[in-house]
Amino acid sequence: MCGIVGIASKQDFSSKDILGSLKRLEYRGYDSYGFATDSGILRKDIGEIKLENVGNFRTSISHCRWATHGSVTQENAHPHTSCDGNIVIVHNGIIENYKELKNALEEKGHTFRSETDSEVIVHFFEEELKSFNMHSAVEKFFAATKGEFAVLLLQKGSNKIYAFKRGSPLVIGVADGMNIIASDIYAFSNITQKAIFFNEDEFAEISSDGYEFFRYDSKLSHVEKDIIKFEWESIESGKDEYDHYMIKEIHEEPKVAERLIKSLKYE
Ligand code: GLU
Repeated sequence: MCGIVGIASKQDFSSKDILGSLKRLEYRGYDSYGFATDSGILRKDIGEIKLENVGNFRTSISHCRWATHGSVTQENAHPHTSCDGNIVIVHNGIIENYKELKNALEEKGHTFRSETDSEVIVHFFEEELKSFNMHSAVEKFFAATKGEFAVLLLQKGSNKIYAFKRGSPLVIGVADGMNIIASDIYAFSNITQKAIFFNEDEFAEISSDGYEFFRYDSKLSHVEKDIIKFEWESIESGKDEYDHYMIKEIHEEPKVAERLIKSLKYE
């Protein structure tokens, strides 16, 4: 558990708003967090998400971490950055074969700065993008990786977010002049009720103008996706009478499942 949020917007979003969307996922559990923007701004911290304002941005990726590999430190918090500083990624899940991928990348000269399994993803893409385009790099990633992942990738100076997943959840909230990619709809249910859910082994290129989806099956091929309309009031964000978000979530699960089933309808 824990969460990721990517925002591609035509209008400026303050870092406070970016972190506000991430905070809506904190019920999923977290120990540290961070965000990066198209301007290259990167913040990482441990503990509770602080809604600090360090500027306005149109494209960002953010993450709250539930550590599986490596202790809870600022270095291990996401996003992780390529050696040249031009690529950033956030990741939910576990890359099971990260050690063998890491060894191969270290042999090619990559220097790792964290103890996480996730950092291998950004070096993998840095290496592949030296010789291949993004689609080939994504195909190679799906082929080379064992484990679970929902990944958002952003390149410095770009307004496009690349998103791909296997195992871990990922969904896009479609709003006017804005697309928000997140681990679940709670991140954007106060902004839009239109969502597109990723299926397994899908990859999407997302900007403020739109999105394009591809399915991986040894190669990427284009797929059309349905927009799902969900209808319910904004999610209550407090812990109520519960001591922890996790306990609250466990108690609310039957109610949430019922509401989701009742509310889903295709456009
Ligand atoms: N396995 C990764 C880590 O330990 C990601 C954990 C998560 O899903 O937050 O950093």
